[in-house]
Amino acid sequence: MSFRYFINQLKESGKLVEISQPVSPRFEASRIAKTTPAPVLFHNISGSKVIMNLLGSREELASMLGVPKEEIIKKLSEVCPEGTLKLVSESPTLEVVEDQVDLTKLPILTHFEKDGAPYITAGIIVSEYGGIMNASIHRLMLVGKDKLAIRLVSPRHTYLLHKKAAEKGEPLPIAIVLGCDPKIIYATSTRVPVGKEFEYASALRGAPVELFECSNRVKVPHAEIVLEGYISSVEKIEEGPFVDITGTYDVVRKEPVANITRIIHRKDPIYHGILPASPEHHLMMGVPYEPRIYRAVGEVTNVRNVVLTEGGCCYLHAVIQIEKQTEGDGKNAILAAFAAHTSLKHLVVVDDDINIFDPKDVDFAIATRVKGDIDILIIPNVRGSSLDPRGAPDGTTTKVGIDATKVLKEKENFERAVIPEEQIKDTLSEPL
Ligand code: MN
Repeated sequence: MSFRYFINQLKESGKLVEISQPVSPRFEASRIAKTTPAPVLFHNISGSKVIMNLLGSREELASMLGVPKEEIIKKLSEVCPEGTLKLVSESPTLEVVEDQVDLTKLPILTHFEKDGAPYITAGIIVSEYGGIMNASIHRLMLVGKDKLAIRLVSPRHTYLLHKKAAEKGEPLPIAIVLGCDPKIIYATSTRVPVGKEFEYASALRGAPVELFECSNRVKVPHAEIVLEGYISSVEKIEEGPFVDITGTYDVVRKEPVANITRIIHRKDPIYHGILPASPEHHLMMGVPYEPRIYRAVGEVTNVRNVVLTEGGCCYLHAVIQIEKQTEGDGKNAILAAFAAHTSLKHLVVVDDDINIFDPKDVDFAIATRVKGDIDILIIPNVRGSSLDPRGAPDGTTTKVGIDATKVLKEKENFERAVIPEEQIKDTLSEPL
Protein backbone atom coordinates (compact mmCIF):
# COMPACT_ATOMS: atom_id res chain seq x y z
CA MET A 1 0.00 0.00 0.00
CA SER A 2 1.42 3.38 -0.94
CA PHE A 3 1.46 6.31 1.45
CA ARG A 4 -1.01 8.33 -0.63
CA TYR A 5 -3.31 5.32 -1.10
CA PHE A 6 -3.48 5.00 2.70
CA ILE A 7 -4.28 8.71 3.02
CA ASN A 8 -6.96 8.33 0.37
CA GLN A 9 -8.49 5.47 2.37
CA LEU A 10 -8.62 7.76 5.42
CA LYS A 11 -10.36 10.35 3.25
CA GLU A 12 -12.89 7.87 1.90
CA SER A 13 -13.75 6.64 5.40
CA GLY A 14 -14.40 10.23 6.47
CA LYS A 15 -11.52 10.28 8.97
CA LEU A 16 -9.33 12.87 7.24
CA VAL A 17 -9.41 16.58 8.08
CA GLU A 18 -8.29 18.68 5.10
CA ILE A 19 -7.07 22.26 5.24
CA SER A 20 -6.76 24.09 1.95
CA GLN A 21 -5.83 27.59 3.09
CA PRO A 22 -2.12 28.45 3.53
CA VAL A 23 -0.65 27.39 6.89
CA SER A 24 2.75 28.39 8.22
CA PRO A 25 5.37 25.66 8.78
CA ARG A 26 6.49 27.64 11.81
CA PHE A 27 4.27 26.70 14.82
CA GLU A 28 0.92 27.05 13.02
CA ALA A 29 0.82 23.52 11.52
CA SER A 30 1.89 22.06 14.87
CA ARG A 31 -0.76 24.04 16.73
CA ILE A 32 -3.47 22.77 14.38
CA ALA A 33 -2.20 19.16 14.61
CA LYS A 34 -2.10 19.34 18.39
CA THR A 35 -5.71 20.46 18.67
CA THR A 36 -7.10 18.13 15.99
CA PRO A 37 -7.72 14.56 17.21
CA ALA A 38 -7.64 13.17 13.64
CA PRO A 39 -5.28 12.90 10.67
CA VAL A 40 -4.80 16.34 9.08
CA LEU A 41 -3.82 16.92 5.46
CA PHE A 42 -2.56 20.44 4.82
CA HIS A 43 -2.76 21.35 1.13
CA ASN A 44 -0.62 24.43 1.32
CA ILE A 45 2.31 24.70 3.68
CA SER A 46 4.75 26.88 1.74
CA GLY A 47 3.06 25.49 -1.38
CA SER A 48 3.45 21.84 -0.37
CA LYS A 49 1.20 19.09 0.99
CA VAL A 50 1.85 17.89 4.55
CA ILE A 51 0.15 15.13 6.56
CA MET A 52 0.20 15.08 10.37
CA ASN A 53 -1.42 12.77 12.98
CA LEU A 54 -1.32 9.98 10.40
CA LEU A 55 -1.67 7.20 12.99
CA GLY A 56 -2.72 9.07 16.10
CA SER A 57 -4.68 6.45 18.02
CA ARG A 58 -4.49 2.79 18.95
CA GLU A 59 -7.75 2.29 17.01
CA GLU A 60 -6.20 3.71 13.81
CA LEU A 61 -3.10 1.64 14.29
CA ALA A 62 -5.21 -1.48 14.83
CA SER A 63 -7.21 -0.84 11.68
CA MET A 64 -3.98 -0.30 9.70
CA LEU A 65 -2.81 -3.73 10.93
CA GLY A 66 -6.23 -5.25 10.33
CA VAL A 67 -6.89 -6.40 13.92
CA PRO A 68 -8.94 -5.20 16.94
CA LYS A 69 -7.15 -2.90 19.41
CA GLU A 70 -6.72 -5.64 22.02
CA GLU A 71 -4.84 -7.83 19.53
CA ILE A 72 -2.17 -5.40 18.27
CA ILE A 73 0.54 -7.10 20.33
CA LYS A 74 -0.52 -10.58 19.38
CA LYS A 75 -0.37 -9.57 15.71
CA LEU A 76 3.03 -7.86 16.05
CA SER A 77 4.44 -10.77 18.11
CA GLU A 78 3.40 -13.42 15.65
CA VAL A 79 5.24 -11.80 12.75
CA CYS A 80 8.79 -13.13 12.24
CA PRO A 81 11.27 -10.84 10.47
CA GLU A 82 11.68 -13.30 7.62
CA GLY A 83 9.70 -11.93 4.72
CA THR A 84 11.19 -11.63 1.25
CA LEU A 85 12.27 -8.51 -0.62
CA LYS A 86 11.93 -7.57 -4.28
CA LEU A 87 14.53 -5.44 -6.00
CA VAL A 88 13.01 -3.27 -8.75
CA SER A 89 14.47 -0.70 -11.13
CA GLU A 90 11.48 1.61 -11.53
CA SER A 91 9.80 3.71 -8.86
CA PRO A 92 7.21 6.49 -8.79
CA THR A 93 9.65 8.18 -6.37
CA LEU A 94 11.84 8.88 -9.43
CA GLU A 95 9.17 11.05 -11.10
CA VAL A 96 11.14 14.17 -10.13
CA VAL A 97 14.93 14.18 -9.69
CA GLU A 98 16.61 17.23 -8.19
CA ASP A 99 20.39 17.43 -8.37
CA GLN A 100 20.41 21.02 -7.11
CA VAL A 101 19.66 20.31 -3.46
CA ASP A 102 17.70 22.90 -1.50
CA LEU A 103 16.15 21.46 1.63
CA THR A 104 14.57 24.81 2.49
CA LYS A 105 12.09 24.18 -0.35
CA LEU A 106 10.63 21.30 1.69
CA PRO A 107 7.87 22.14 4.21
CA ILE A 108 10.08 21.22 7.18
CA LEU A 109 8.22 22.21 10.35
CA THR A 110 9.25 24.14 13.43
CA HIS A 111 7.18 22.70 16.28
CA PHE A 112 7.78 24.43 19.61
CA GLU A 113 8.82 27.82 20.92
CA LYS A 114 12.42 27.03 21.84
CA ASP A 115 13.22 24.59 19.02
CA GLY A 116 16.73 25.08 17.64
CA ALA A 117 15.59 24.91 14.00
CA PRO A 118 13.05 23.26 11.70
CA TYR A 119 13.13 19.46 12.12
CA ILE A 120 12.37 16.47 9.91
CA THR A 121 10.64 14.09 12.32
CA ALA A 122 9.33 11.24 10.15
CA GLY A 123 12.41 10.44 8.08
CA ILE A 124 13.43 6.80 7.91
CA ILE A 125 17.20 6.71 7.62
CA VAL A 126 18.28 3.76 5.50
CA SER A 127 22.02 3.19 5.73
CA GLU A 128 24.39 0.61 4.32
CA TYR A 129 27.97 -0.20 5.21
CA GLY A 130 30.16 -3.30 4.86
CA GLY A 131 27.22 -5.29 3.51
CA ILE A 132 25.01 -4.45 6.48
CA MET A 133 21.92 -2.26 6.17
CA ASN A 134 19.67 -0.57 8.68
CA ALA A 135 16.45 1.41 8.61
CA SER A 136 15.24 3.52 11.52
CA ILE A 137 13.71 6.92 12.23
CA HIS A 138 16.01 9.63 13.57
CA ARG A 139 15.25 13.28 14.09
CA LEU A 140 17.00 15.57 11.61
CA MET A 141 17.71 19.22 12.25
CA LEU A 142 17.89 21.57 9.28
CA VAL A 143 21.28 23.29 9.39
CA GLY A 144 21.80 24.36 5.76
CA LYS A 145 20.49 24.06 2.20
CA ASP A 146 22.04 20.61 1.90
CA LYS A 147 22.90 19.84 5.52
CA LEU A 148 21.10 18.15 8.39
CA ALA A 149 22.27 17.29 11.89
CA ILE A 150 21.29 13.72 12.76
CA ARG A 151 20.72 12.51 16.31
CA LEU A 152 22.34 9.08 16.57
CA VAL A 153 21.63 7.16 19.76
CA SER A 154 24.18 4.68 21.13
CA PRO A 155 24.10 1.69 20.72
CA ARG A 156 21.41 1.68 18.04
CA HIS A 157 22.18 0.22 14.64
CA THR A 158 22.64 3.49 12.67
CA TYR A 159 24.99 4.73 15.40
CA LEU A 160 27.05 1.52 15.13
CA LEU A 161 27.21 1.60 11.31
CA HIS A 162 28.29 5.25 11.38
CA LYS A 163 30.94 4.44 14.00
CA LYS A 164 32.29 1.59 11.89
CA ALA A 165 32.51 3.79 8.78
CA ALA A 166 33.98 6.74 10.70
CA GLU A 167 36.72 4.56 12.18
CA LYS A 168 37.88 3.90 8.60
CA GLY A 169 37.53 7.59 7.78
CA GLU A 170 34.64 6.92 5.42
CA PRO A 171 31.25 8.67 5.21
CA LEU A 172 28.14 6.51 5.74
CA PRO A 173 25.84 6.40 2.67
CA ILE A 174 22.23 7.07 3.62
CA ALA A 175 18.82 7.68 2.07
CA ILE A 176 16.13 9.44 4.07
CA VAL A 177 12.71 8.06 3.24
CA LEU A 178 9.63 10.23 3.78
CA GLY A 179 6.12 8.90 3.25
CA CYS A 180 6.08 5.17 2.50
CA ASP A 181 3.66 2.31 3.29
CA PRO A 182 2.66 2.89 6.96
CA LYS A 183 3.43 -0.77 7.72
CA ILE A 184 7.02 -0.14 6.61
CA ILE A 185 7.14 2.96 8.83
CA TYR A 186 6.04 0.81 11.78
CA ALA A 187 8.49 -1.95 10.92
CA THR A 188 11.40 0.49 10.93
CA SER A 189 10.36 1.65 14.42
CA THR A 190 10.55 -1.93 15.66
CA ARG A 191 13.68 -3.37 17.25
CA VAL A 192 14.35 -6.34 14.98
CA PRO A 193 17.66 -8.18 14.42
CA VAL A 194 20.27 -6.15 12.49
CA GLY A 195 19.23 -5.39 8.93
CA LYS A 196 15.85 -7.13 9.14
CA GLU A 197 13.51 -4.09 9.10
CA PHE A 198 12.29 -4.51 5.52
CA GLU A 199 11.98 -8.29 5.86
CA TYR A 200 9.85 -7.68 8.94
CA ALA A 201 7.77 -5.18 6.95
CA SER A 202 7.27 -7.77 4.20
CA ALA A 203 6.03 -10.29 6.77
CA LEU A 204 3.75 -7.65 8.31
CA ARG A 205 2.31 -6.75 4.88
CA GLY A 206 2.05 -10.33 3.69
CA ALA A 207 3.76 -9.22 0.46
CA PRO A 208 7.41 -8.47 -0.39
CA VAL A 209 8.60 -4.90 0.12
CA GLU A 210 9.85 -3.51 -3.20
CA LEU A 211 13.19 -1.72 -3.02
CA PHE A 212 14.96 0.38 -5.64
CA GLU A 213 18.53 1.63 -5.68
CA CYS A 214 19.43 5.27 -5.06
CA SER A 215 22.36 6.99 -6.76
CA ASN A 216 24.56 6.17 -3.73
CA ARG A 217 23.51 2.49 -3.97
CA VAL A 218 21.36 2.53 -0.81
CA LYS A 219 18.17 0.55 -1.44
CA VAL A 220 14.86 2.10 -0.39
CA PRO A 221 11.11 1.41 -0.62
CA HIS A 222 8.82 3.53 -2.83
CA ALA A 223 8.11 6.79 -1.05
CA GLU A 224 6.83 10.32 -1.51
CA ILE A 225 10.28 11.87 -1.00
CA VAL A 226 13.81 10.45 -0.66
CA LEU A 227 16.87 12.48 0.34
CA GLU A 228 20.13 10.84 -0.73
CA GLY A 229 23.44 11.61 0.91
CA TYR A 230 26.15 10.74 3.41
CA ILE A 231 26.73 11.14 7.12
CA SER A 232 30.13 12.75 7.57
CA SER A 233 32.79 10.73 9.41
CA VAL A 234 34.18 13.85 11.09
CA GLU A 235 31.84 16.86 10.96
CA LYS A 236 29.67 17.41 14.02
CA ILE A 237 27.38 20.24 15.00
CA GLU A 238 25.29 21.26 18.03
CA GLU A 239 21.93 19.53 17.72
CA GLY A 240 18.88 20.92 19.54
CA PRO A 241 17.05 22.12 21.49
CA PHE A 242 14.37 19.61 20.52
CA VAL A 243 11.24 18.39 22.28
CA ASP A 244 11.07 14.62 22.64
CA ILE A 245 8.37 12.18 23.80
CA THR A 246 7.96 13.66 27.26
CA GLY A 247 7.06 17.09 25.82
CA THR A 248 10.12 18.53 27.55
CA TYR A 249 13.38 19.70 25.95
CA ASP A 250 16.11 17.16 25.31
CA VAL A 251 19.65 18.42 25.96
CA VAL A 252 21.78 19.93 23.18
CA ARG A 253 24.56 17.58 22.01
CA LYS A 254 27.20 17.51 19.28
CA GLU A 255 25.85 15.22 16.57
CA PRO A 256 27.07 14.17 13.10
CA VAL A 257 26.20 16.14 9.98
CA ALA A 258 24.44 14.53 7.01
CA ASN A 259 25.19 16.04 3.59
CA ILE A 260 22.37 15.66 1.08
CA THR A 261 23.50 15.18 -2.53
CA ARG A 262 20.23 14.52 -4.41
CA ILE A 263 16.49 14.71 -3.78
CA ILE A 264 14.01 12.48 -5.60
CA HIS A 265 10.25 12.67 -5.15
CA ARG A 266 6.84 11.97 -6.59
CA LYS A 267 5.00 14.75 -8.42
CA ASP A 268 3.18 16.90 -5.85
CA PRO A 269 4.66 14.92 -2.93
CA ILE A 270 3.03 14.61 0.49
CA TYR A 271 5.48 15.38 3.29
CA HIS A 272 4.98 13.49 6.56
CA GLY A 273 5.42 15.48 9.76
CA ILE A 274 5.22 13.90 13.21
CA LEU A 275 4.47 16.34 16.00
CA PRO A 276 6.89 15.58 18.88
CA ALA A 277 5.17 14.26 22.04
CA SER A 278 1.91 13.75 20.11
CA PRO A 279 -0.08 10.49 20.26
CA GLU A 280 1.37 9.58 16.84
CA HIS A 281 4.91 9.99 18.19
CA HIS A 282 4.08 8.12 21.41
CA LEU A 283 2.47 5.16 19.65
CA MET A 284 5.30 4.87 17.17
CA MET A 285 7.93 4.91 19.92
CA GLY A 286 6.05 2.68 22.31
CA VAL A 287 3.92 0.12 20.53
CA PRO A 288 6.87 -1.67 18.87
CA TYR A 289 8.22 -2.34 22.38
CA GLU A 290 5.02 -3.95 23.63
CA PRO A 291 5.57 -7.29 21.84
CA ARG A 292 9.08 -7.39 23.24
CA ILE A 293 7.79 -6.98 26.82
CA TYR A 294 4.96 -9.41 26.06
CA ARG A 295 7.40 -12.11 24.94
CA ALA A 296 9.75 -11.56 27.90
CA VAL A 297 6.95 -11.74 30.47
CA GLY A 298 5.60 -14.78 28.63
CA GLU A 299 8.85 -16.57 29.50
CA VAL A 300 8.12 -16.31 33.24
CA THR A 301 4.34 -16.48 33.55
CA ASN A 302 1.10 -16.58 31.62
CA VAL A 303 0.97 -13.10 30.03
CA ARG A 304 -2.33 -11.83 28.61
CA ASN A 305 -1.60 -8.31 27.40
CA VAL A 306 0.77 -5.36 27.72
CA VAL A 307 0.22 -1.65 27.23
CA LEU A 308 2.62 1.28 27.42
CA THR A 309 0.26 3.93 28.71
CA GLU A 310 -0.40 7.27 27.04
CA GLY A 311 0.09 9.18 30.31
CA GLY A 312 3.52 7.59 30.57
CA CYS A 313 4.35 8.87 27.06
CA CYS A 314 3.94 5.27 25.75
CA TYR A 315 7.51 4.76 26.88
CA LEU A 316 8.11 5.11 30.61
CA HIS A 317 5.02 3.40 32.08
CA ALA A 318 3.56 -0.02 31.40
CA VAL A 319 0.61 -2.05 32.57
CA ILE A 320 1.10 -5.78 32.28
CA GLN A 321 -1.81 -8.18 32.49
CA ILE A 322 -1.09 -11.73 33.60
CA GLU A 323 -3.03 -14.84 34.48
CA LYS A 324 -1.29 -15.51 37.78
CA GLN A 325 -0.34 -19.15 38.23
CA THR A 326 1.79 -19.14 41.37
CA GLU A 327 2.54 -16.62 44.11
CA GLY A 328 5.48 -14.45 43.01
CA ASP A 329 4.48 -14.36 39.33
CA GLY A 330 3.82 -10.63 39.61
CA LYS A 331 7.40 -9.95 40.76
CA ASN A 332 8.88 -12.15 38.06
CA ALA A 333 6.79 -10.30 35.49
CA ILE A 334 8.22 -7.01 36.81
CA LEU A 335 11.82 -8.23 36.46
CA ALA A 336 11.24 -9.64 32.97
CA ALA A 337 9.55 -6.44 31.73
CA PHE A 338 12.30 -4.15 33.02
CA ALA A 339 14.90 -6.32 31.32
CA ALA A 340 12.99 -6.30 28.03
CA HIS A 341 12.51 -2.52 27.73
CA THR A 342 15.38 -0.70 29.43
CA SER A 343 13.68 2.70 29.19
CA LEU A 344 10.72 1.51 31.25
CA LYS A 345 10.57 3.27 34.62
CA HIS A 346 7.36 2.38 36.47
CA LEU A 347 5.04 -0.50 35.83
CA VAL A 348 1.95 -2.15 37.26
CA VAL A 349 1.16 -5.84 36.99
CA VAL A 350 -2.56 -6.67 37.06
CA ASP A 351 -4.82 -9.72 36.84
CA ASP A 352 -6.86 -10.62 33.78
CA ASP A 353 -10.09 -9.13 35.20
CA ILE A 354 -8.58 -5.62 34.95
CA ASN A 355 -9.07 -3.56 31.78
CA ILE A 356 -5.53 -2.38 31.02
CA PHE A 357 -6.77 0.26 28.58
CA ASP A 358 -8.74 1.95 31.40
CA PRO A 359 -6.51 3.95 33.82
CA LYS A 360 -9.38 3.93 36.38
CA ASP A 361 -9.47 0.15 36.43
CA VAL A 362 -5.68 0.02 36.89
CA ASP A 363 -6.05 2.54 39.73
CA PHE A 364 -8.68 0.23 41.24
CA ALA A 365 -6.25 -2.70 41.13
CA ILE A 366 -3.59 -0.63 42.92
CA ALA A 367 -6.17 0.53 45.47
CA THR A 368 -7.54 -2.90 46.36
CA ARG A 369 -4.72 -5.38 45.68
CA VAL A 370 -1.51 -3.67 46.82
CA LYS A 371 0.20 -3.69 50.19
CA GLY A 372 3.09 -1.25 49.85
CA ASP A 373 5.78 -3.02 51.89
CA ILE A 374 5.27 -6.32 50.08
CA ASP A 375 4.04 -5.47 46.61
CA ILE A 376 6.32 -2.61 45.54
CA LEU A 377 9.70 -3.50 44.10
CA ILE A 378 12.27 -0.67 44.01
CA ILE A 379 15.40 -1.15 41.92
CA PRO A 380 17.87 1.76 42.16
CA ASN A 381 20.84 2.56 39.88
CA VAL A 382 19.70 0.82 36.71
CA ARG A 383 19.94 2.10 33.15
CA GLY A 384 16.93 4.24 32.25
CA SER A 385 15.80 6.45 29.38
CA SER A 386 17.93 9.33 28.13
CA LEU A 387 14.60 11.09 27.57
CA ASP A 388 13.55 11.04 31.24
CA PRO A 389 14.00 14.55 32.70
CA ARG A 390 14.36 12.97 36.18
CA GLY A 391 17.07 10.50 35.11
CA ALA A 392 20.63 10.83 36.44
CA PRO A 393 23.29 12.40 34.17
CA ASP A 394 24.96 8.99 33.85
CA GLY A 395 21.76 7.55 32.36
CA THR A 396 20.69 5.60 35.43
CA THR A 397 17.39 5.80 37.26
CA THR A 398 15.29 4.03 39.88
CA LYS A 399 12.69 1.58 38.64
CA VAL A 400 9.52 0.84 40.52
CA GLY A 401 7.33 -2.18 39.86
CA ILE A 402 3.93 -2.53 41.49
CA ASP A 403 2.49 -5.98 41.85
CA ALA A 404 -1.26 -5.28 41.87
CA THR A 405 -2.30 -8.89 41.47
CA LYS A 406 -4.54 -10.76 43.89
CA VAL A 407 -3.04 -12.93 46.63
CA LEU A 408 -3.84 -16.38 45.27
CA LYS A 409 -4.66 -17.97 48.64
CA GLU A 410 -7.12 -15.18 49.45
CA LYS A 411 -8.68 -15.02 45.99
CA GLU A 412 -12.26 -14.79 47.31
CA ASN A 413 -11.45 -11.53 49.18
CA PHE A 414 -10.78 -9.85 45.81
CA GLU A 415 -13.78 -11.14 43.92
CA ARG A 416 -15.50 -8.31 42.08
CA ALA A 417 -19.21 -8.45 42.66
CA VAL A 418 -21.39 -8.81 39.57
CA ILE A 419 -25.10 -8.27 39.15
CA PRO A 420 -26.29 -11.22 37.11
CA GLU A 421 -28.42 -10.23 34.14
CA GLU A 422 -30.85 -13.18 34.32
CA GLN A 423 -31.71 -12.32 37.89
CA ILE A 424 -32.84 -8.82 36.84
CA LYS A 425 -35.08 -10.23 34.12
CA ASP A 426 -36.59 -12.76 36.54
CA THR A 427 -37.41 -10.10 39.08
CA LEU A 428 -38.95 -7.85 36.45
CA SER A 429 -41.06 -10.64 35.03
CA GLU A 430 -42.53 -11.40 38.43
CA PRO A 431 -46.00 -9.88 38.87
CA LEU A 432 -46.01 -6.92 41.25
MN1 MN B 1 18.08 -2.01 13.06
